[in-house]
Amino acid sequence: MTNTAYIALGANLGDPAATVRAAFGALANMTESRVVHSSSLYRTAPVGITEQPEFVNAVAQIETGLAPEALLDALLDIEHRFGRVRAERNGPRTLDLDILLYNDQLIDLPRLTLPHPRLHLRAFVLQPLAEIAPNLVIPGRGSVAAWLPAVANQGIVRL
Ligand code: ADP
Ligand code: MG
Repeated sequence: MTNTAYIALGANLGDPAATVRAAFGALANMTESRVVHSSSLYRTAPVGITEQPEFVNAVAQIETGLAPEALLDALLDIEHRFGRVRAERNGPRTLDLDILLYNDQLIDLPRLTLPHPRLHLRAFVLQPLAEIAPNLVIPGRGSVAAWLPAVANQGIVRL
């Protein structure tokens, strides 16, 4: 379990706070993996399609023996178990799990981009990430803390 990864959790259907809490448990149960830090839950306004319920978001730091693509498969499996119906991008979902960072690896595959290409633009990722890893550096982009002011206008409330 020598790899460190950061996972973004998001939900906006049903009881999203309960879903995110349960998803932390599902992350902890992944093979060869453990959750090292869990952020608070945050309530955030939807991005893109604004006519949908508010989201609950959080970030987890994990240690894992899974390689990046195996980790993605495990996350997609959890999404499916939580009943996600894959519809429009940025649309409503029971549970969305994204890999933000995997060590300091840069990956550009059709199904996996690391670091997550939009992580530095989203308050709902940066704020929980800053809570559990304030000194973290996004490879090629700089520190999480340095990006926070750029998203200060995005509505986000810590629950
Ligand atoms: P989004 O999270 O952007 O709203 P989806 O959750 O539907 O959209 O993801 C679509 C696809 O994005 C996934 O099937 C996955 O293969 C791909 N993807 C690329 N990079 C990543 C990443 N870093 N984390 C999670 N999924 C990723
Ligand atoms: Mg996703």
